[in-house]
Amino acid sequence: MENFYRMMRKKHDIMIVNGQPDGGKWNFDQSNRKKWTGEPEIPHERGFRKDVTRALEEIKEAEVKTFGNIEAENFNWPTSRGDCLSVLNYFCENLLIHFGDYQDALHTEEKYLFHSRLSFAMNSKILSPKEVIDKVLDHYYENTTEIDISQIEGFVRQILGWREYMRGIYWKEMPDYANLNELDNHNKLPDFFWSGDTKMNCLEHAIGQSLDDAYAHHIQRLMVIGNYALLTQIHPDEVDAWYLGVYIDAIEWVEITNTRGMSQFADGGVVATKPYVSSANYINKMSNYCGDCHYSHTKKLGEKACPFNALYWNFLDEKREHFKNNNRMAMMMSLLDKKDKKELSDLKERAKKVIEHPDKF
Ligand SMILES: Cc1cc2nc3c(=O)[nH]c(=O)nc-3n(C[C@H](O)[C@H](O)[C@H](O)COP(=O)(O)OP(=O)(O)OC[C@H]3O[C@@H](n4cnc5c(N)ncnc54)[C@H](O)[C@@H]3O)c2cc1C
Ligand code: SF4
Repeated sequence: MENFYRMMRKKHDIMIVNGQPDGGKWNFDQSNRKKWTGEPEIPHERGFRKDVTRALEEIKEAEVKTFGNIEAENFNWPTSRGDCLSVLNYFCENLLIHFGDYQDALHTEEKYLFHSRLSFAMNSKILSPKEVIDKVLDHYYENTTEIDISQIEGFVRQILGWREYMRGIYWKEMPDYANLNELDNHNKLPDFFWSGDTKMNCLEHAIGQSLDDAYAHHIQRLMVIGNYALLTQIHPDEVDAWYLGVYIDAIEWVEITNTRGMSQFADGGVVATKPYVSSANYINKMSNYCGDCHYSHTKKLGEKACPFNALYWNFLDEKREHFKNNNRMAMMMSLLDKKDKKELSDLKERAKKVIEHPDKF
């Protein structure tokens, strides 16, 4: 993706000065990893209180099967060009200034943090990605004393880089892509994916929010829900279908490449060079979820141990063969090899319980 992104920056002359990247670096990802702890303040979101009762009645009358929850009198998504432009303006004026810093942060009280909520507007073609990038760049170049380049570069990379890259992968790899299951995963989605009813606080928040608002930001989709689905070895068909049904921005070309590719590694590395998996450590580092959780993020074994910890080591052990030639997995696999045999066997025993009875955890 990085090479593609650089090519796109040059091709479209975006943040290029004398043939070189503006700011002296192509990628400021390293500065995009702060945890949000209540500061800086997040300006009140621009909300839409639309009444979609009639549309909901039509859906019910047509007996369309639905899931999730809706407050039909308070539908909070932009649906016209004017609405979408106002979301874009709101983002430039209020959120861009901290977008990059808190891109990976997670918080129980803030669903959107500094994210733009522009994916639906672009995917439904109400706004063009070029127009979004142009507007955000104009705002940045008018305010360079206030807005650091790392904030804008992070945003441009998501749209010009990741979004366009996924589009290319989709058209190059489909239709075979939709059947890939490189890691041979076959489990079913737990029931709590339809209710949010679980003792695991991070999943309760991320899934509950998805069911209520049809939105979760990237790290909730990737490192909480997707991480859990991959570690519990759920069939990618089930994962795809859930993501395609739950999110307002889910359109197959940008959904399946993220789900089957980036999140579930079912394409064996076409999109990502290694699977995005982690134990509780990462979630605790980036969020406040673990503080209020029934489970302890530091415990590996016992009733109160965070299920992610056992699932993580179990996954690496079970999928050993798939990763033996992957250099990017070498460090993780060498840590696995150094694990005490008895501890690993106990971890695997606990992971088995979680996988067999996911709705009890
Ligand atoms: C498992 C999984 C499933 C996803 N499914 C979808 C999907 O169905 N539709 C969708 O549009 N995005 C999807 N994404 C990408 C990303 O999570 C959403 O685009 C983003 O959360 C939308 O919120 P936002 O507009 O506030 O994004 P911001 O954080 O404000 O980012 C700005 C824009 O960058 C683009 N973007 C960022 N990351 C990606 C990415 N990985 N791929 C493509 N575009 C990206 C989006 O257009 C987004 O609006 C998925 C990611 C994962 C990990
Ligand atoms: S302790 Fe584990 S389950 Fe609970 S919030 Fe943290 S990572 Fe999630």
